[in-house]
Amino acid sequence: MLLGCIADDLTGATDLALMLVRGGMRTVQVIGVPDDPGSLPQADAIVVALKSRTIPAEEAVAQSLASAEALLAAGARQFFFKYCSTFDSTDRGNIGPVTEALMERLDCPFTLACPAFPATGRTVYLGHLFVGNLLLSDSPLKDHPLTPMRDPNLVSVLSRQTGRAVGLVPFDVVDRGADALSAAFREAEEAGTAIAIVDAVSDRHLHTIGEAAADLPLITGGSGVAIGLPESFRRRGQIASGDPVAGFAPPGGRAAILAGSCSAATQEQVAEARAAGIPAFRVDPQDLASGQTGVAEVLAWAAEQGGEGPLLVYSTATPETVRSVQDRLGRDAAGALVEKTLAEVACGLVEQGVRRLIVAGGETSGAVVQALGVRVLEIGPEIDPGVPWTVAAGAPSVALALKSGNFGAPDFFVKAWDLLA
Ligand code: ADP
Repeated sequence: MLLGCIADDLTGATDLALMLVRGGMRTVQVIGVPDDPGSLPQADAIVVALKSRTIPAEEAVAQSLASAEALLAAGARQFFFKYCSTFDSTDRGNIGPVTEALMERLDCPFTLACPAFPATGRTVYLGHLFVGNLLLSDSPLKDHPLTPMRDPNLVSVLSRQTGRAVGLVPFDVVDRGADALSAAFREAEEAGTAIAIVDAVSDRHLHTIGEAAADLPLITGGSGVAIGLPESFRRRGQIASGDPVAGFAPPGGRAAILAGSCSAATQEQVAEARAAGIPAFRVDPQDLASGQTGVAEVLAWAAEQGGEGPLLVYSTATPETVRSVQDRLGRDAAGALVEKTLAEVACGLVEQGVRRLIVAGGETSGAVVQALGVRVLEIGPEIDPGVPWTVAAGAPSVALALKSGNFGAPDFFVKAWDLLA
């Protein structure tokens, strides 16, 4: 294993894993702190997905260190701490404390911090983070419910989170290329800087950073920075050329879609799947609450469906319908009821022989993955931007596509299966 990654949330971990796969690295995603490093599968990179963005800093540090320990035991030679491209954090952390703890454990006196992801509009110029054409502090992130970002100057943001000296390597240095940037890293370290915010406004800059950071034991940033890492390993002959998903072997079996997202993209996808004739069962939270329908009814219906094609179970509804259900049941109660039901349906479907499953919705995916006891996901081909097929190791092994609500084209539920043929 070459690269051990620790990500502070589940979808960010998938994002990073995909970036590495696209760069030619065989990549596996592990959910939660790995309990047995010996059981980690062979891969060029392992991404540990934590849920540590907004938990107390001590817990985030403890989980990150335990993950680092497992990755070290599995042979990781370089580490990547992945956080959000909008640097989501509070003055108490967790980016600073986790970076600091990993530096200490990995004996790393100097590292860089770069959330830039120009393809999604996140750029860093003179240490200031822009979201599209707005400064971070003028963007919607200023009103984030958990991590309101009101200061766009990352040197000051990070300085408030760590006792280590934070510096800046500005645009003009990065723009001159990898040699200039490596020299700047050495100078910064000699001058006492421990963590350097590095500017980047284009993918070329990210590739430069990847090349200059090849010898750093720890790199921190958004998934954008990972764009330049595979090339460093390839240059050294550490990863083979060839298709990293060539060995991807999804299990055969029945197929199903569970949609618990009410986002606009998922609504279109449900409509398109139904129009394409995919058998569908609508789960209504009101009926679940009254006991009129439940997991048993859904599973009985699923068992009756013949044919090879996928079947669809969805709670997806329009904003008006969702609002009226929430008014009656309460927002959290309605959400929890639907999540629990779909998670139990997922387990029942797997018992019925379903081996290929698409789940729509971030929270819904979390509930399903937890109910199925999934710990390890091998990353396969990308269906639509940001959403790969994965194979969940285990008995039985299941092909899973976990789709954040608003991701994917309207025909996602119809076409995704072609990649498993
Ligand atoms: P997304 O990725 O689109 O945000 P999530 O799964 O993260 O999707 O969140 C959707 C939330 O809405 C979940 O908690 C889900 O249980 C809940 N939900 C789904 N369908 C309904 C519905 N018909 N009425 C009320 N809440 C619903």
